[in-house]
Amino acid sequence: MSSVPILMYHHVLPEAGFISSSVEQFRAQMELLVEHGWQTLDSATFRAYKLHGAAVPQRSLLITFDDGWRDNYVYAYPILKALGLRATLFVVTGWIDAASRAPAPYQPRTHKECKRLAPGAPREVLLNWDELQTMRDVFDIHPHTHTHRDDYFGRLPWEEDILRSRERLQTQLGIDSPQLCWPRGVHDAQLVALAERLGFDMLYTTLRGANSADGRGDSLRRLAAKDGASWLRRNLWIARHATLARLYARMKPE
Ligand SMILES: [Zn+2]
Repeated sequence: MSSVPILMYHHVLPEAGFISSSVEQFRAQMELLVEHGWQTLDSATFRAYKLHGAAVPQRSLLITFDDGWRDNYVYAYPILKALGLRATLFVVTGWIDAASRAPAPYQPRTHKECKRLAPGAPREVLLNWDELQTMRDVFDIHPHTHTHRDDYFGRLPWEEDILRSRERLQTQLGIDSPQLCWPRGVHDAQLVALAERLGFDMLYTTLRGANSADGRGDSLRRLAAKDGASWLRRNLWIARHATLARLYARMKPE
């Protein structure tokens, strides 16, 4: 396998919107993956491929979700589970803590509404620890910092923000993760060095592209998912053929 694309999702909702797929679009994309024989890797297998060149099937990809919005449990989780697909979820652990304190009824909310409601009514829009535990038959769960660098529930220095996130996953779910997703993709050489010093060797960005087995995990590329099945078919084709083009260029005679 010459490269592995990573899809990035945030919300799956009845209606499509900003960083939100509709249920219909998401289902169509997941069905396309199954029909075309794509393997959805678990995050440990992807790490073994990326860092150590472990063999993965020709058509392999990683499905990722960021933040930990409650719609992921309500809408995305049952679709993935029914189709036997695997995905990875990066959670803002301080938000999950806040959502786990008191129950609240659910109704679908746009991303903008989610952001407005999260500080005052976190459980209305965010996953709690019980849901994450349930979702582990489909999702691998990794840190996305403790605060997301938002002031919903106070701010922490970077090192504490990263460490606290890993500790909360360890305490609540027994997960000891070497994989981290930068909030809003924000990172620089200093932050990468910090994360690596803290023991993270797989760092997920919002930079676009596919990922080859080059032994490096410091700048993982993702495709922000949108639209429906035809968008996905086109972009997976581009990801595969861009890699072939690069390999071909390298094969040129001297
Ligand atoms: Zn995020």
